[in-house]
Amino acid sequence: MAASGDRRPSPLAQLKALIGGLPAWLSEVDDSDLGEELVGIRESVVQLEAAFAGGLRRFDKSGEYKADGAVSLIDWLRWKAKLSGGAAMERVTIARQLEQLPQTLQAFASGDVGYQHVALLARTAEKVGAATVKDEEASLLKAAGTMDPGRFADVARAFEYRVDHAAALAEANRAFARRYLHISDVKDGLVHLEGLLDAEGGATLKTALDALMPPPKIDDDRTPGQRRADAMVELARRPLDGSKLGTVGGQRPHLVITASAETLAGLPSAPPAQLEGVGAIPMETAQRHACDASVSWLLGQAELESETSHAHQRIPAPTRRALVARDHGCVVNHCGRPASWCDGHHLTWWTRGGKTALPNLALVCGRHHRMLHEEGWTLERRDGRWLAKPPSQRVPANARSA
Ligand SMILES: [Zn+2]
Ligand SMILES: [Zn+2]
Repeated sequence: MAASGDRRPSPLAQLKALIGGLPAWLSEVDDSDLGEELVGIRESVVQLEAAFAGGLRRFDKSGEYKADGAVSLIDWLRWKAKLSGGAAMERVTIARQLEQLPQTLQAFASGDVGYQHVALLARTAEKVGAATVKDEEASLLKAAGTMDPGRFADVARAFEYRVDHAAALAEANRAFARRYLHISDVKDGLVHLEGLLDAEGGATLKTALDALMPPPKIDDDRTPGQRRADAMVELARRPLDGSKLGTVGGQRPHLVITASAETLAGLPSAPPAQLEGVGAIPMETAQRHACDASVSWLLGQAELESETSHAHQRIPAPTRRALVARDHGCVVNHCGRPASWCDGHHLTWWTRGGKTALPNLALVCGRHHRMLHEEGWTLERRDGRWLAKPPSQRVPANARSA
């Protein structure tokens, strides 16, 4: 609080006056120096956000926003600071979490890390606990200092998967539940597509589309959007014609997953598996793919240094033929989706020592396979009958709702 009789303008008033002169000054800067000055402006914006976060923390604790009639700090920010709900929530998360992360606070105040990096760290702290982030704060900040926000988001997510696996799986399951695809009726000669896919579904679609999008020829005047649209129609047309996707560089297109043996065995301290183009994925998802490998694997450092173990089919062709002859289609709750839609699921996962042999295998469709690995269902065979059981204890939806 300013002492009474102090007539000096506040730092904020001085700052506003200085900012008013900024465009004129910037217009005089040499072209060769402009880049550096623009970086300086961005750093100042970060420093302003840091100062704002400090003030917001106090405002949050005092509850003074209620005096304005707002029901929450987020509401107040939307109203008074003209922020969207998401942007307001992000500021509040930063204000609340950074109090417990002194190194991040310092890097934020000096403009050494970007605002989006700080927001990612705060969000991670909110999910897994600030104390957990604090244990590895230095290494996370080091990564933040060298990576763009997109790559740093991968690092932050891998960290979350490692330290709070159950919450990460619950989040992946919530994301999966939000998937949808809407295809409109024809209007003005056009059909409108709209939808959401979870990370794995999106990676699968992109891999298939990429396979149908060779580098454009010199006389190909289609836009990237048009080429993608054509590839998607082609993707739909091929199975209707009975033709296949074909190969890229002599191989069928496939997802690439990197996972250590510890991850596939489900050891609690194992590093998260990585899906190429996506980043960290739950170990259950990696285990499902490993159950009937239709993906490429890099099993940790040793293989990274030698070679990739390529998409080998885990179930040999004769065993698969016997499996299809016995089960015909998906065996879960008389689902019956055809064998061509199905994976061979190991009743005792091979990562836990189960054999790749008929008595330990079941034909299950993609949806049911996901339920068995990621959603806690179990499948048994008793006296020749299949028994699928829902999770006695649901996968914890404990992580706070978005
Ligand atoms: Zn399986
Ligand atoms: Zn099924």
